[in-house]
Amino acid sequence: MAGKRDYYEVLGVNKNATDDELKKAYRKMAKKYHPDANPDNKAEAEAKFKEVNEAYETLSDPQKRRMYDQFGPDGPQGFGGGSGPFGGQGGYYSYNGSGFDGFGDFGDLGDIFSSFFTGGFGRQSKTRQNGPRKGADLNLHMDITFEEAFLGVDKEIIITRNEKCNNCNGTGAKPGTNPIKCPSCKGTGQIRQVQNTILGQVQTTRTCPECHGTGEIIKEPCDNCRGKGTVRKQPKIKVRIPAGIDDNQTVVLRGEGDPGEKGGPNGDLYITVKIKKHNIFTRKGNNVLCDIPITITQASLGAELEIPMVDGTKEKYKIPEATQTGTKFTIRNKGFKSINSSSIGDFIFTVTVQTPKKLTKEQRELLVQLAKTMNEQPPVKKRGLFG
Ligand SMILES: [Zn+2]
Ligand SMILES: [Zn+2]
Repeated sequence: MAGKRDYYEVLGVNKNATDDELKKAYRKMAKKYHPDANPDNKAEAEAKFKEVNEAYETLSDPQKRRMYDQFGPDGPQGFGGGSGPFGGQGGYYSYNGSGFDGFGDFGDLGDIFSSFFTGGFGRQSKTRQNGPRKGADLNLHMDITFEEAFLGVDKEIIITRNEKCNNCNGTGAKPGTNPIKCPSCKGTGQIRQVQNTILGQVQTTRTCPECHGTGEIIKEPCDNCRGKGTVRKQPKIKVRIPAGIDDNQTVVLRGEGDPGEKGGPNGDLYITVKIKKHNIFTRKGNNVLCDIPITITQASLGAELEIPMVDGTKEKYKIPEATQTGTKFTIRNKGFKSINSSSIGDFIFTVTVQTPKKLTKEQRELLVQLAKTMNEQPPVKKRGLFG
């Protein structure tokens, strides 16, 4: 997919475009590049039209858009490959799944738009129901701790999904029998109808009611799956969460969704990560932020502090004399790893000077002495309370 144009650029919108703006931009572009509107250079217009459709299909789907924003047009390939049960499957998600083709069956532009906006792409996949079909994608959330996001973590989760029935090998037919070609649609899964309208004759197709579009009829269903070809299972899945993942980012396990039909590929499993709040650390970009309390003497005289890092280690850090409360200090490269580059964030801590809440007698005397040297009024004792 190298050299692919940026989808936002294709639609001529900025990255923060609302759904409405996307839709408007899409309508404009689709109208402009519709092949029927460009009879002189149909091929070029068709290519552009497809590009526009592909861009809109990705950006109009919140999940696909998030993936696109997160990983760019080439998909999330920066992590996760290599090891684990899914490592060998190679690659992740590709954005242009539906493969738009042909618009000859539609009447005018209005028809095209309405069919797109009411799920025209979904209808497309229906017309192919008797061919290979990709299985359904699955979505789930996973809570992880701040530290797990920082270090990366391998998790095992139990998911519920359909799996191919082993008894009938996914055909749905009793072992030893075979599904037969549907007599109503002759195996196409479609019933064609010609209607007379004010625009002339329009040919429409609808899903065959006998076989529900599969093109086949099962005479003797498999006992195990009752003819569905799939059974509900709850497999354990290993998930590698890469170090540096941020809240609401998604890990995709390709092929771990529902099984495909008729040799189609399995769906994908999307895991969106939710990071739990940490008591002392917060995150900003790839930087870790933290407040560190210090005493008035540490602030005045300077001190060597031991700063707790997210990975559980401690870093020594010398703050200078006369440090003011609210001063920020940076420890380089102790923040989050970047998921898609080699850069590492910083650890930034802010010191807050704590006024002592309780003083020993000795400490109080010393402070009074100090106050005198600083030309200040000694603290007023409350009469009666201390005698
Ligand atoms: Zn079965
Ligand atoms: Zn049929």
